Amino acid sequence: MGLVYINGEFIPTENAKISVFDRGLLYGDGVFEGIRSYNGSVFKLKEHLERLYASAKAVWLNIPLSFKEMEEAVLETVRVNNLRDSYIRLIVTRGAYGLGIDPWECKEGTVIIIADKIKVFPEEFYQTGLNAVTVATRRSPTDVLDPRIKSLNYMSNILARIEARIAGAAEGIMLNHQGYVTEATVDNIFFVKNGILFTPSVTLGALPGITRATVIELAKKELGLEVVEGFFTRYDLYNADEVFLTGTAVEIISVIKIDERIIGNGKPGEITQKIRKIFHEYANSGVAGSPVYGK
Ligand code: PMP
Repeated sequence: MGLVYINGEFIPTENAKISVFDRGLLYGDGVFEGIRSYNGSVFKLKEHLERLYASAKAVWLNIPLSFKEMEEAVLETVRVNNLRDSYIRLIVTRGAYGLGIDPWECKEGTVIIIADKIKVFPEEFYQTGLNAVTVATRRSPTDVLDPRIKSLNYMSNILARIEARIAGAAEGIMLNHQGYVTEATVDNIFFVKNGILFTPSVTLGALPGITRATVIELAKKELGLEVVEGFFTRYDLYNADEVFLTGTAVEIISVIKIDERIIGNGKPGEITQKIRKIFHEYANSGVAGSPVYGK
């Protein structure tokens, strides 16, 4: 049985409850992170917390813990759950204060940390690659809800996933209002063309993924690849040699079909497989992680 961190206390999972008045529930008024630990180290914890605090700042949300305290709380949650490899969900809401929308009375946020396991796609998809479609639901424009903010508002991502599933695909690729490719429902997107790695610029409307940043770094450093961030349309994806998705939960997975167009030779590409391999080696080596059990 697991223990969930809620506002400084570790509560057995079945008793881990928060108020029905919590604004995270009433309005999706909060921010969150999905983080992984590999082999006893929390991968890129500082980067995840930097993104969390940046999201909170953008939505005027005061996180009741200092950066250092939050770091320790995450490590302690993994520790008390005795997990070496885990998926960590860190949530900060604006707290529980009546039913009105005005956030001004909210003094203290709610902090929840869950350390568990996650399975996003069946294991076989990692061998075969998956089928994706572009969906009608657009990624939120930056002047509505900037997708760089990792807020609890995932309804458009969920609608995109529903559309994909109805179309018989595993994942949905979202465009922005100009028709540029942004990202998938819970992952960033990359494609390979003539040995160059391309990924949409996050300012088009995508989360600045920690896995995305890691892949860019490893592709340049370890594989000597040129990486281009820019504006791309569906045409670029259809005619790519390889397409893959990146995210903390998903890790790295090939896309072999988009809107019924076969990508490349219809199998996970060579560069994608190399990137998967070096990513896992890097994540498991602990060099980019905060050790859970001490050094
Ligand atoms: N885009 C969205 C919309 C996401 O929810 C996620 C998962 N956090 C990602 C991209 C990938 O980001 P990361 O690599 O930091 O998990």
